Amino acid sequence: MSDRPVVTRIAPSPTGYMHIGTARTALFNWLYAKRMGGKFLLRIEDTDRERSTLPAVQAIFDGMEWLGLIPDEEPVFQAARADRHVLAAQALLAKGRAYRDYMTAEELTAEREIARAEGRAVRSPWRDQDANFNDRPFVVRFKGPHEGETVIHDLVKGDVTFKNKDLDDLIILRTDGTPTYNLAVIVDDHEMGITHVIRGDDHLNNAARQTLIYEALGWDVPVWAHLPMIHGPDGAKLSKRHGAQAVSEFDDMGYLPEAMRNYLARLGWGHGDDEIFSDQQAQAWFDVTDVVSAPARLDWAKLNHINNHY
Ligand code: GLU
Repeated sequence: MSDRPVVTRIAPSPTGYMHIGTARTALFNWLYAKRMGGKFLLRIEDTDRERSTLPAVQAIFDGMEWLGLIPDEEPVFQAARADRHVLAAQALLAKGRAYRDYMTAEELTAEREIARAEGRAVRSPWRDQDANFNDRPFVVRFKGPHEGETVIHDLVKGDVTFKNKDLDDLIILRTDGTPTYNLAVIVDDHEMGITHVIRGDDHLNNAARQTLIYEALGWDVPVWAHLPMIHGPDGAKLSKRHGAQAVSEFDDMGYLPEAMRNYLARLGWGHGDDEIFSDQQAQAWFDVTDVVSAPARLDWAKLNHINNHY
């Protein structure tokens, strides 16, 4: 992997406004790509057709442009690549690393209850059947190992170990044949040549499952780096009562994009006691391994101090 040029990306789902968490993730990916002389890409993860909206796509483009985080290639739209995702699911079926699961909704609910009571992951009776009926609805699930462990070597979190018995066999194709996020993200990252997946730590659990799918497909697993959440000044999950969440709100409130870049860089990362630094300095200093794993806190006084400087 080390001989491949670094390629990073952000992959927001266009289901609302552009959150400052997404902006910080974009900034770290951009800084890391610049630092390594690599590329920074944007993929719009619009596979959830019901929740994805065009205004939300536009908010991402506008937010990125305002922040000055310009991707090095045209954006990729995930939904347009569904045929690629389905091919990967078929490859997994052909290798015996996926199966058609004919459990009904009632059977699945019952299995969930039993699994919860027994403290284990959901298991389908179809896992070892290799069944292929053409008159019954099914989902396609990845056939993950049930023994042993999967270790994620994360640049921020360190080594994180998952017991395979706790991991469900992920659905990769829904009943209507459409791919799920966990399949699409792997195929797209692989085909876009992504070397480093730098994203929020709400995806840490997915990284274990995704690692198993990468390995089953015989593809290089990207380097993982899961960033801490941004909390409000009181340490609670960021919400409206903390003042702002959307990038456009910071713009409306008069914050400058260069001040936002400077401030967002300091949410989870820093360079000694330096408060004010230029893009050139941030690009020269930034290393994702220096990001701390505890949640970062939004601090209005610090943001105002930095904004007043510009
Ligand atoms: N689309 C996912 C999200 O918005 C991000 C997936 C990823 O970065 O791998 O949470």
